[in-house]
Amino acid sequence: MGTETLTTRCAIAGGGPAGVMLGYLLARAGVDVVVLEKHADFFRDFRGDTIHPSTLQVMYELGLLDEFLKRPHQEVRELGAQIGDELVKIADFSHLPTRCGFIAFMPQWHFLDFLAEAGKRYPTFHLHMQSEVDELLKDSDHVVGLKAATPKGDLDIRADLVVGCDGRHSAVRALAGLEVEDRGAPMDVLWLRLSRRPEDGSDSLGRIEPGRFFIMIDRGDYWQCAFVIPKGGFNELRRKGLEAFRLALVALKPELKNRVREIASWDDVKLLTVRVDRLKQWYRPGLLCIGDAAHAMSPIGGVGINLAIQDAVATANILAAPLRDGRVTEEDLRKVQKRRLLPTELTQALQVFIQNRVVSNVLTMKTEPKAPLAAKLLDRFPWLRRWPARLIGMGFRPEHVKTKEVAPAAAE
Ligand SMILES: Cc1cc2nc3c(=O)[nH]c(=O)nc-3n(C[C@H](O)[C@H](O)[C@H](O)COP(=O)(O)OP(=O)(O)OC[C@H]3O[C@@H](n4cnc5c(N)ncnc54)[C@H](O)[C@@H]3O)c2cc1C
Repeated sequence: MGTETLTTRCAIAGGGPAGVMLGYLLARAGVDVVVLEKHADFFRDFRGDTIHPSTLQVMYELGLLDEFLKRPHQEVRELGAQIGDELVKIADFSHLPTRCGFIAFMPQWHFLDFLAEAGKRYPTFHLHMQSEVDELLKDSDHVVGLKAATPKGDLDIRADLVVGCDGRHSAVRALAGLEVEDRGAPMDVLWLRLSRRPEDGSDSLGRIEPGRFFIMIDRGDYWQCAFVIPKGGFNELRRKGLEAFRLALVALKPELKNRVREIASWDDVKLLTVRVDRLKQWYRPGLLCIGDAAHAMSPIGGVGINLAIQDAVATANILAAPLRDGRVTEEDLRKVQKRRLLPTELTQALQVFIQNRVVSNVLTMKTEPKAPLAAKLLDRFPWLRRWPARLIGMGFRPEHVKTKEVAPAAAE
């Protein structure tokens, strides 16, 4: 096995939502780009399957929406919660000023696969699967490329810019020595699947009970369920045994009694450790981090994918022209951070507030919870539900595609 060497304008580490979208946008704008993904495919469970209205708007602006929505998905126009015995409606997406007034729940595999397929239209788009980035190439203080391990041997890529899109446990940000500020998270999440029966109804629902926070998302023939536990509490739960866990689920939703045995072992329950953190500086000469690599998001609101996409759109808007011309400066990279910092800070502040004021309280609560006044008002006045919908569905600074498509024949 030898070492293969490539040269490109932009090398992207990580083929998640941020990396694949950025790769697509840059290639569409005529920039030569290589995306490296360490896994052999995009198919992994529980990566977060929400495509928000502002991401759907981006797909529309790219002319991809109609084709995209042919992939299997569910459209959720309202979100509700059951707090104790009370059922409350909390968000209504149908009035948003976007092309789609709904959240599309679609396996993330389809989203990434769709974009990767669309990218093939451009000869400047190169996606390398099974390529794990493990080193940065440097010329004194300047990052000039990266190294990746592949089944065929090492791959050295020289690039004008390396973008770390490799998620919450980013190797790139660690290799670049970028400083991380931890915002803390009081909880972890267990993900599991239970079959969905015709008599179940289809409302995706959050359920709050003393010491428990449970979410069921309608995924067609199954429910994707999130069971929130105190940080580090998984071992304690396992000690109590699988049967006790099944009974806890039945206590939350008695209708699940006839199917909790589908959880045959702890292998059917995936622990996802929640982190909320942010880089002090998202860049250094020759390198930029975006998406979770720059700011790991809490699952609260299910907005992490949307933020990753918005980062990618802003990055392409700012960097496509300098990348095409081979003149990206540190000032250009600073502009990306400046553009995306405020929406990130505001979103994380809101998530941390909800984690500390709502989730922590629920997890330690001993008595039956009551719907707070804010939830009652949202339930009573439908027009109020447009505000949480706007925050969740569009975020603080929705980005729009400003790059022009360079016809494939005219690209580099
Ligand atoms: C429990 C939990 C539930 C969540 N649920 C939702 C949800 O429902 N909706 C939502 O919007 N957000 C959700 N999030 C947040 C969401 O998962 C992230 O914010 C989002 O995926 C970030 O996208 P990304 O592209 O930046 O990173 P990622 O999606 O993490 O993608 C990073 C990619 O890089 C690859 N990679 C990693 N290291 C390397 C390497 N060294 N070399 C090459 N490739 C590498 C990984 O395999 C991966 O494909 C959830 C988070 C948690 C913790």
